Amino acid sequence: MKEAVLPPQRRLLLIDDDRLQARLVQQQLKAFRREHFHLDWAGTYEEGLPLLLSGQHEVCLLDYQLGEKDGLELIREAKAAGCAVPIVFLTAESSSDIDIEAMNAGAMDYLVKGEISPSTLERSLRYALKLGDTLAELNRLATRDELTGLLNRRELNRILSEESDRSARFGRPFSLVMIDLDHFKSVNDQYGHAAGDLVLQETAKRISRHLRRTDRVARFGGEEIAVLLIELDEAQAAEVAERLVQEVRQAPYVLKNGTELAVTISAGLATLPIVAQTDLELLEAADTALYQAKQSGRNQLVIAREDAVRRAD
Ligand code: GH3
Ligand code: MG
Ligand code: MG
Repeated sequence: MKEAVLPPQRRLLLIDDDRLQARLVQQQLKAFRREHFHLDWAGTYEEGLPLLLSGQHEVCLLDYQLGEKDGLELIREAKAAGCAVPIVFLTAESSSDIDIEAMNAGAMDYLVKGEISPSTLERSLRYALKLGDTLAELNRLATRDELTGLLNRRELNRILSEESDRSARFGRPFSLVMIDLDHFKSVNDQYGHAAGDLVLQETAKRISRHLRRTDRVARFGGEEIAVLLIELDEAQAAEVAERLVQEVRQAPYVLKNGTELAVTISAGLATLPIVAQTDLELLEAADTALYQAKQSGRNQLVIAREDAVRRAD
């Protein structure tokens, strides 16, 4: 006899200060026809926000009224923190202003509490999940480089501008490392474009491997990679950048046909606010340092200085 295969359970977070509502949702989940949800309930804003940001849930039901603060504030705070969990908004009032406000803040759908049945709730959650997947895919396409999976240049520019503003406002350091593969054209010329692509992919992997989650890596152009090191002072950033140069040269790359290839990179580091005040100045300073690294023989890091650029020891 075949065992019945149960559909996978999805985790649903309900943020609502009303215990009765939590019980009602629990009841309605039992009457769902296709999806099976495990419900976690948070009764306050303070409890709900960190749970939502924890990334453990696939979808969230969020109440409008939550004590002193409200659900709209919670959506905005969650979105600002990068939350991508699809949210369905709940309210007792059938006010059309709030539904549009909720959607503008980033909610996927809107339900009026007194009008919810198991089938409308199930439909809304399924729809929010599907739309959430589609938006995540669109977001990936808009922000990532296809070959390497790194951030693309547009996304890098956006983060660069945001982080340099933040750095200026809070007086926190922030560094940019510009990296360029050495003699990369000869890899293409000698081994073909596909081998060149593989070298780019492997370099992206080696560079990403040792970075923190908050650091950002982008493909800046053809064979140029930019790394943003957030809240590291110049000395710490130099240590990281030096490690990246070593990480590329420490072992040969192996091509598909087994050929071993010695690859190296050159890197230029600039730190805000030491050598630059704005994102554009930071880019220019890192670029100048990178140029110096090339001029000084490649396979090395150069740190941008206020007066000039200095070769890393
Ligand atoms: P240098 O050490 O001075 O940086 O020399 P280089 O040969 O690395 O620099 P150059 O700018 O002369 O050549 C860069 C090459 O990168 C040329 C271009 O065809 C290649 N390239 C750019 N994008 C890609 C890509 O996506 N795939 C492959 N395979 N090659 C690429
Ligand atoms: Mg190059
Ligand atoms: Mg280049």
